[in-house]
Amino acid sequence: MRHRCADGRGAENRARAARVRWKYIPMAAIIQVENVTKTYRVGKVDVPAVRGVSFAVERGEFLSVVGPSGSGKSTLFYILGGLAQADSGRVLIDGTDFAHTTDSERTHLRRRKIGFVFQKFNLLPTLTARNNIQIALDIAGDAADRDPDHFRNITQLLGIDKRLDHRPNELSGGEQQRVALARALINKPAIVLADEPTGNLDTQNSTVVLEMLQRSNQELGQTVLMITHNPEAARFGNRILHFRDGQVVGPELDPQWSGAVH
Ligand code: ADP
Repeated sequence: MRHRCADGRGAENRARAARVRWKYIPMAAIIQVENVTKTYRVGKVDVPAVRGVSFAVERGEFLSVVGPSGSGKSTLFYILGGLAQADSGRVLIDGTDFAHTTDSERTHLRRRKIGFVFQKFNLLPTLTARNNIQIALDIAGDAADRDPDHFRNITQLLGIDKRLDHRPNELSGGEQQRVALARALINKPAIVLADEPTGNLDTQNSTVVLEMLQRSNQELGQTVLMITHNPEAARFGNRILHFRDGQVVGPELDPQWSGAVH
């Protein structure tokens, strides 16, 4: 009898513990940055680029990272994308700590989970637009989602469906960036990292690219982290993180934003 009572209490305690766990454990962020630092060494001079940065990006957020030139945004971008290593601190991408992965694990994670967009498009000059997009599927291998409807849909939304048989040098800068964005989105990555994606574009092309990023965020639920120094572009995000001198600061300490309307 005593035994059964003890068992009953045990079950009750376990149920209570489970309720407590359920209630108090927050949803894990898809990007978690903890106290990250990075210093470049140029000759005998140390150039601190990222100086103890911590922040989290929730799944489904569109975060804009703004700040003056030289404030460490691109360095952070490379660390987040697993393209460079932090000197200290932790970067967790969907729960995986980049610092504790091998190069090949990091590459695998990157191909599976992250789509990149760079300011300078980075298309392969000898391939057509179609093949520049499809190469992302080939690289992803088994993780690729070869969905022809998705290919058609994004190339149409980006207005490049009639330009797919052209090579990059036959496309305008805006068209090239739209191809680069299609390449980033073709695998439906959980995270899209964009570094100044509108930095080389006119207003019209910038709007197409930003609206597509917004759409991928709102309709496909992709988490977007976009670096920009353009306040208008930054407002496409649903949260803005300000960088200055390698640190996250309040908007009042960002010269471009102090006094600006949010
Ligand atoms: P942002 O993207 O905000 O312009 P960066 O991350 O490019 O900032 O640069 C941050 C600091 O690190 C700057 O002082 C820059 O000169 C320096 N830096 C960036 N890349 C390198 C590098 N490869 N070698 C040496 N210093 C660098």
